Amino acid sequence: MTERADRAPAAPPGDGALDGLHVQTRAIRAGRDDNQNALAPILWATSTFTADTVSEAHDMAVDTHSSRFYTRYGNPTVKAFEDAVADLEGTESARAFASGMGALSAIVLGLCSSGDHIVAQRQLYAGTQLLLQTACPRFGIDVTFVDGTEPGAFTGAVLPGRTVLVIAETPANPKLAVADLAEVGAIAGPMTVVDSTFATPLGQRPADYGVDLVVHSATKAIAGHNDATIGVVAGSEELLAWLWNYAVLHGAVASPFDALNALRGIRTLAVRLRQQTETAAALAEALEGQPTVESVHYPGLASHPQHELAARQMDLAGGLVTFDLADGYEAGRAFVEEVRVVRLATSLGGPESIVTHPASTTHVSLLPEELEAACIGQGTVRFSAGLEHTDDVVADVTGALDRVAGIVAARSRADRECRE
Ligand SMILES: *Cc1c(COP(=O)(O)O)cnc(C)c1O
Repeated sequence: MTERADRAPAAPPGDGALDGLHVQTRAIRAGRDDNQNALAPILWATSTFTADTVSEAHDMAVDTHSSRFYTRYGNPTVKAFEDAVADLEGTESARAFASGMGALSAIVLGLCSSGDHIVAQRQLYAGTQLLLQTACPRFGIDVTFVDGTEPGAFTGAVLPGRTVLVIAETPANPKLAVADLAEVGAIAGPMTVVDSTFATPLGQRPADYGVDLVVHSATKAIAGHNDATIGVVAGSEELLAWLWNYAVLHGAVASPFDALNALRGIRTLAVRLRQQTETAAALAEALEGQPTVESVHYPGLASHPQHELAARQMDLAGGLVTFDLADGYEAGRAFVEEVRVVRLATSLGGPESIVTHPASTTHVSLLPEELEAACIGQGTVRFSAGLEHTDDVVADVTGALDRVAGIVAARSRADRECRE
């Protein structure tokens, strides 16, 4: 992968002390402008702020996104996190939300009105897809879903004068499909949004390609320790100020404590992402040689359909690997119960390696044809690399696959005997 993210952003916020430094170095100190002489970020656990005079209170109230008026409008700890994300994404500004979905629903409901049209990628995080499929029709907002891997699909679906938002996610849940950031960023007219959660701000920078709003579920790799639920949107000050007018009414604002944890996460993001990418790449390669694995999806593999595009626009291929087990539902279910080092849970980007089997958990209510439309097979497993030793994780996964092959073979033998 390239070294593109090592470039300094055009206008890094702050006092200029971080100008020109590598992004990994800036991540250590970003968001510390308002820190007095504390080295670590300060937790401002307060819902409100006092004023001495009416004129001071007036100024606090009319300041857009004041960080010292009332915490639903802003808070110094939350602002520190926002400033750090803006620095890493190379944008003027950022706004934090109570979760990734808080950010996405504020964008959709804050920027679209009845009669508007959205173009969205078909390969999406399930929550985003449900928001677009179920909430948008209730408000008279039409959504066209396109295949984000098909060149020209986003552009071709834009209705001039009607399309307000174009929403992409890359790499996308669950098969790590990669959408072309340059194509999305070049779309004129509608506002373009990229959910960059799987890549993290150190894996790719959509704003460099002209994308208007970059969204993260910072719950995942940014906070990175499975101890915070928080979302963030990075973009121009003008666009975010506009979004904020609705967001303060929407009310899904980040808690100062989660912002503190997320800002702590940013300090170690570079080393965590490097380790997680190393484990994911090693596992993806090992899985390609496994007889019970039908297919492996990882942007860093030469066999990934958008491998060259990923290499062009991503600095690191990231910590997620998705694979399809040949023996379907039973194998998938048995596999997630057989791993010992890796845990069965729903999330990604944390210190613990995690697997999910969507067909039996997150997507259990879907019909087989709906699963297929969502690109999820009966034996699809999503793996998120943690921070354990790479060899332990690879051995755990391959060992579990061996045991699963034995379990499935014994079951089909038993089935045969029953039938005979
Ligand atoms: C988890 C996730 C979200 C939703 O974020 P929450 O913080 O859980 O609300 C959105 N997009 C992607 C890609 C995600 O992985």
